[in-house]
Amino acid sequence: MTASLAPLAGAVLTLGAVFGLAIGSFLNVVVYRVPAGLSVIAPASACPRCGTPIRSIDNVPVLSWFVLRGRCRDCAEPISVRYPLVELLTGVFFLVVGIRFLPDPAATGATIAGHAVLLVALLYLAAVSVALALIDIDTQRLPNAIVLPMYPVLATLLAGSSALTGDWSALIRAVGGMALLGGLYLGLAVAVPRGMGLGDVKLAGALGLVLAYLGWGPLAVGAFAAFLLGGTFGIGLMIVRRTGRRNGIPFGPWMLLGAWIGAFVGVPLWHAYLALLGLA
Ligand SMILES: [Zn+2]
Repeated sequence: MTASLAPLAGAVLTLGAVFGLAIGSFLNVVVYRVPAGLSVIAPASACPRCGTPIRSIDNVPVLSWFVLRGRCRDCAEPISVRYPLVELLTGVFFLVVGIRFLPDPAATGATIAGHAVLLVALLYLAAVSVALALIDIDTQRLPNAIVLPMYPVLATLLAGSSALTGDWSALIRAVGGMALLGGLYLGLAVAVPRGMGLGDVKLAGALGLVLAYLGWGPLAVGAFAAFLLGGTFGIGLMIVRRTGRRNGIPFGPWMLLGAWIGAFVGVPLWHAYLALLGLA
């Protein structure tokens, strides 16, 4: 990136982070309402104790929580620190995804546009990742209302990106990745029904779509990292709790964390691995 374009990139990334804070605020609503089968649009958020609707001035991500010192303005009911933490996490998430996947301004116009559409797909995945990880931790479920729309949304954005960059092989690879990762989890769900649920299978297909679009390396690293992290955590928890099996240990958060490791470092890790084997 040339020096003259650096301030522009900085402005775009700052905007992205602020946008992420606002999306994080919305995700708090999603995480609370979707598992309960409630609308995420209406009614407006209100204090769960006194029922007073939350004023706009008290709905500023992160800042309002500090101004209110973590309590409802009307009845002093404590507001969980989780709300500003989710907002902050989403803001930082959007920032690092932006830094990693910001289109190269030196490329041609159509290619920049194609990469920008891919960035939108990844930011959508980032938002969905935060919501699904929290809901899975809270309820041990991955709601269809969030997982199933991932397929048309991601397929449309990835196809749009390929149409602009002219790289149709990435889209064909994405379909292959969806079938591979979805098939792997379906096999596991059939073989070990206690260990893996159908929600995990549906999420795996959607993650396979995005990871393989980025490359075979991101798909392989993303899939492997999920089992490495989830397995290590599960074994550790069994030792600490002295319980057998996975009692209420959700796997969705590990699938999502693994996928993002694959998205960020999958390409270099995969090449290093192939070089190690003497294959590259
Ligand atoms: Zn209140």
